[in-house]
Amino acid sequence: EEKRSLNFIEQIIEEDLKNDYKREDLQFRFPPEPNGYLHIGHASSICLNFGLGEKYNAPVNLRFDDTNPIKEEQEYVDAIKRDVEWLGFEWAKECYASDYFQQLYDWAVAMIKSGDAYVDSQTSEAIAEQKGTPTQAGKNSPYRDRSVEENLELFQKMKDGETREGEHVLRAKIDMAAKNMLMRDPVMYRTLHRKHHRTGNNWMIYPMYDWAHGQSDFIEAVSHSFCTLEFLPHRELYNWFLEKVSSSEDFRPKQREFARRNLSHTIVSKRKLLHLVEKGIVKSWDDPRMPTISGLRRRGYTPASIRKFAETIGIAKRENIIDVSLLEFCIREDLNKTAPRVMAVLDPVKLVITNYPEGEEEWLEAENNPEDESAGRRQVPFSRELFIEQEDFKEEANRKFFRLSLGKEVRLKNAYIIKGENVVKNDAGEITEIHCTYDPKSRSGSGTEESMRKVKGTLHWVSAKHAVKAEVRLYDRLFTVESPDADKDKDFLDFLNPESLKTITAYLEPGLKDAEPGDRFQFQRLGYFNVDKESTKEAPVFNRTVTLRDSWGS
Ligand code: ATP
Ligand code: MG
Ligand code: MG
Repeated sequence: EEKRSLNFIEQIIEEDLKNDYKREDLQFRFPPEPNGYLHIGHASSICLNFGLGEKYNAPVNLRFDDTNPIKEEQEYVDAIKRDVEWLGFEWAKECYASDYFQQLYDWAVAMIKSGDAYVDSQTSEAIAEQKGTPTQAGKNSPYRDRSVEENLELFQKMKDGETREGEHVLRAKIDMAAKNMLMRDPVMYRTLHRKHHRTGNNWMIYPMYDWAHGQSDFIEAVSHSFCTLEFLPHRELYNWFLEKVSSSEDFRPKQREFARRNLSHTIVSKRKLLHLVEKGIVKSWDDPRMPTISGLRRRGYTPASIRKFAETIGIAKRENIIDVSLLEFCIREDLNKTAPRVMAVLDPVKLVITNYPEGEEEWLEAENNPEDESAGRRQVPFSRELFIEQEDFKEEANRKFFRLSLGKEVRLKNAYIIKGENVVKNDAGEITEIHCTYDPKSRSGSGTEESMRKVKGTLHWVSAKHAVKAEVRLYDRLFTVESPDADKDKDFLDFLNPESLKTITAYLEPGLKDAEPGDRFQFQRLGYFNVDKESTKEAPVFNRTVTLRDSWGS
C-alpha cells in the first residue's frame, strides 16, 4: 500500500487513542436510509468507514436508518447489501434503527417523566411559525407546560394509533431561544399510520432522524459516527439526546463530519435519481448511465476501480465537485491491466482483398493482453472480405492520416500489410466496398523480412463471414453541464444530455459469442466494453464502459 499522510478523520482517531480511547473501543458504521440505491457519493462513505475498520481492525456495522416508512422499501435494503458486498466489504452486524423502536420509545417515556419532552398539539405550520429566526428567539408552544400525566396519556394514544396523523407530535423540551435553531424544541416523534417494511403495523409513531441516529450509535457502541457536513449543526442535539439517555460513565459515541462528495455531469441524490427512474428518463436504478453503484457495475466498472477512486479523492472538510474523468481514469487503469484485447468494428465498411484466394480462410494468432503475458494467445479468422471502421479510410488523405487511403499501405492488426487500390460506390456516391491488395509475405509474427516492414498505422478488423453481430450501447454523460443541480432556481432536467445513449450494431470477432454477462474486454483502438446483463447467445448486448482516451469536448 502507498504511504500517505493521515487524513483529518484518522487524525481525530489517533488523537482519541492518545487520550482516553482504547483500540478495542473503536467501532464504526455505515448508515444508509433504504429509500433508494447507493450512489458514488455513498461509496466514499463506505470506503471511509470500512477502510477505518480495516485499518484499526475494528467492527463496522451496516445500519439501516429505516425510520421513514413512507419512502423505505425492502427492495432498497437488498440492493444496498448487494452493493456494499460487491465493493468488497464485510459488515460486523446488520442493524436496523427499527430494531430499536421499543428502546427509543421507553427512553422517550422517561424523558416525558423527567420533564424533557412534551406532546404538542399544534399544526406543523404553527410549530414552524414559532421557531423564530437565527437572530430572533422563538415562542413557546401553548402546550409546552402540559402535565406529565397528560403527556403520557397522549403519547400512548399516538402510539396506539388512536390519534390522527398530524394531530400531535412529541417534542424535546430544550430552549426556544437557543442560538442553534435545531435546539428549539425539536420534534422527536410524529404519527404516521403507515406500514413499515420491517415492523409492519406495530408502530403508528416514528422517530425523527435526530432522535433515532445518535441513540442507535449508542446502542451499538459505535465510537465514531461520521456523517456529512450538513449535520454539523445537529451535533449539539446529538449530544443533548445522548446525555438524556446515558450516564456520564457510559461510553458515548461522537459525531464528526466530512464533506459530501459530488461528481461532475451527474447528480448524487437518491431523491433526484429516483425521479429519473420514475419518469422513465433512465430505464432503471442500474441503468449504466446512472451514478449508482449498481449502474456503474452494470456499465463495467470494477469494485477495485471505485475503491481506488474513493481513495484517490480522499476525505475533505469542504464540499467540491470531482470531475468524472477521474473516475474514468480509475477504470481505464484497472481494465488496462486485466481486460483481454479483442477486435470489434462499430461502424463497418467492407474491405475486399482482391488478391486473396476466394473461399479460403486462415486462423491467425493474436495476443490477448500485452500488459499480461499470462493472458495467453488466441486465434482469429482471416478471409478475403473483412470489415474495418469507416473512419479508418479516406480516398485521399494528407500525410498525417495514418490509416488507409488509396495507394497507401497500412497493417491489419495480427495480419498482413494491405494497400488501398480502389473503391466501389452506390448511386448516392457512398462507398460500399474498399478494394485492396495484400502482401502475402507480410504476416505478423512470421519472421519474414516483409513482416518486419514498418508501415504507418495499424487497423483493427473482423472477418465478415465469421463476425458476430451484436448490439452495442454507447453511453455518454447523462448531463451536459458540470453541476446540473447547483442552481436551485433551475430544473436539473433541463440539462439532460439527449445523446447519453446511442445504440448501434457492431461486428465482433467470433470468439466473443461465448462471452458471458459481466465479462469485460478492450475493443482495440476503441475502448472498454462489457457484456450487459440482458445479453443472450442469440442476441448479444455490449455496453461501452469507457473510451480509451478522454474525448469529452474535443
Ligand atoms: P441522499 O441525499 O442521496 O439520500 P443521504 O445522505 O440522505 O443522501 P443516506 O442513506 O442517509 O443518504 O447516506 C448514508 C451515509 O452516506 C451517510 O453517512 C451520508 O452522510 C453518506 N453520504 C451520502 N451521500 C454522500 C456523498 N455524496 N458523499 C459522501 N458521503 C455521502
Ligand atoms: Mg440521510
Ligand atoms: Mg436522504
